Amino acid sequence: MDLNLKGRRAVVTGSTGGIGYAAARELASLGATVAINGRTQTRVDAAIAKLKGEVKGGTFVGAPGDLGGADGANAIIRAVPDADILVNNAGIFEPKPFFDISDEDWMRFFETNVLSGVRLARHYTPKMVKRGWGRVVFISSESGLHIPVEMIHYGVTKTAQIAVARGLAETVTGTGVTVNSVLPGPTMSEGVGDFMSKMAGGVANPDLEKMGRDFIRDHRPTSLLGRMATIEEVANMIAYVCSPAASATSGAALRVDGGVVRAIP
Ligand code: NAD
Repeated sequence: MDLNLKGRRAVVTGSTGGIGYAAARELASLGATVAINGRTQTRVDAAIAKLKGEVKGGTFVGAPGDLGGADGANAIIRAVPDADILVNNAGIFEPKPFFDISDEDWMRFFETNVLSGVRLARHYTPKMVKRGWGRVVFISSESGLHIPVEMIHYGVTKTAQIAVARGLAETVTGTGVTVNSVLPGPTMSEGVGDFMSKMAGGVANPDLEKMGRDFIRDHRPTSLLGRMATIEEVANMIAYVCSPAASATSGAALRVDGGVVRAIP
């Protein structure tokens, strides 16, 4: 199986932590040069320093930019004008009852979770098509299929990403460029870990593993895994779909959800 990404240039948004960080690390270990994005230069520099320690001979470039608006996408494009692989991972989540979600909240979620990827895909994909090879991946969520009642706005943006990915895949038919969405289920990322620690109410060293299992038991009982996924497990799927080996997979919504979604396929 050909997973070799030597000579490929990848952009992974929101890669200073969580799933994006693990995906960047995996792509770099397969040989790609990876552009690291986060909101600040300091966070990007820190992530690159850590990644260099973890991936022997790995090559990284910094591409800071706040994807909550067009300026951030433009900053990334200025730092990295061309790429062979685009992983639209940056995303925000926040539980809020439907009746409290303001227009501003809706717009912020749409800009950060949907338009960010649209803007970058609009720039990078035509260049991939010209070269006859490319990979565009949108990190959506099982929440795009099972709309979470505690954050409907988040779920809507995750459904929108799947629609964008499918439409774009059909736009680049037969070009050697594939476009897919990856749907993680509950995953113990930096953001989710912080969230759970807060819920533990200031307890020193909360047992996140146990909290994850309890969360799955109480809130995601259809899980076949019985625990949260690790960021590495999700990154494995992302790396595969970015690889030459995944050349016949396009327009797909690939689940890494531990079987939470009760559907065939
Ligand atoms: P995380 O909060 O651990 O990490 C998010 C990363 O994105 C961080 O590096 C952060 O700095 C960056 N980021 C956030 N807002 C940004 C912005 N405006 N501009 C640039 N960078 C920004 O998150 P995660 O849990 O790893 O989630 C990553 C993606 O996976 C998201 O799109 C999320 O919706 C999706 N997802 C996560 C889970 C889960 O359970 N963790 C489940 C399904 C889908």
